[in-house]
Amino acid sequence: MTDTVSPTTPSIVRMQKLNKHFGSLHVLNDIDLEIIPGEVVVIIGASGSGKSTLIRCINGLEEFQSGMLEVDGNTLTPNGKSSKALQTIRTEVGMVFQQFNLFPHLSVIDNITLAPMKVRGWNRDDAVATAKRLLDRVGIADQADKYPSQLSGGQQQRVALARALAMEPRLMLFDEPTSALDPEMIGEVLDAMRELAKEGMTMVIVTHEMGFAREVADRVIFIHKGVIAEQGAPQQLFDSPQNERTQSFLARVL
Ligand code: ADP
Ligand code: MG
Repeated sequence: MTDTVSPTTPSIVRMQKLNKHFGSLHVLNDIDLEIIPGEVVVIIGASGSGKSTLIRCINGLEEFQSGMLEVDGNTLTPNGKSSKALQTIRTEVGMVFQQFNLFPHLSVIDNITLAPMKVRGWNRDDAVATAKRLLDRVGIADQADKYPSQLSGGQQQRVALARALAMEPRLMLFDEPTSALDPEMIGEVLDAMRELAKEGMTMVIVTHEMGFAREVADRVIFIHKGVIAEQGAPQQLFDSPQNERTQSFLARVL
């Protein structure tokens, strides 16, 4: 969280007037967004409002058509293809998806060590040691040699989290990380994310878990039809939303 960050800390994400279209569909409309290191930002909004597209732009999974985006000093340009900045950003930004996206044919430990060995050039011993430490941190040290299909959804999602952390990301993105989980497993994943936030990780989280958002977010952003309709501290946004759209959205979900 951000209490120790001075107001002059440079932003890790700087997005200015970003526009994204899918064909004739204008999905993100003049988005301005600055995120400082250590900040936990939660993005809420109705289905189809552009939440996934917004965070996928941040790690270059989606191109955008106009505007500016800088991530940890690397500038992405509109319609940018395979730029050096894009490659750097992909190694520095970790992402956890709704569907865990683990490699089914690899054991838990191999899922986690693959990218550090391939992309960072770590030797196997170091990568395994790090992976085991991370598995311990997310509470599943005993699952290292299993395959994803042998794990519960909550365990798989924690492997996905450990896998992303193994790359020592500067920023973590989460796209509805608990939406595919049975209710009894949501808590264990949120706990792991809560720990990460406490340790000072910069996080951008799309979620429908409003209680969690209220607790961990430094800032909540409400997106409506590709526009940031309102943002603020969780208490302010949840307890006294100013925008009519925010009010009716919250009335439906709270
Ligand atoms: P959210 O995550 O808030 O539910 P998305 O960012 O997934 O919203 O989608 C925003 C809009 O963009 C939706 O209308 C969706 O149908 C559309 N969209 C998303 N991805 C694509 C795509 N790859 N091609 C075409 N349209 C898309
Ligand atoms: Mg989505």
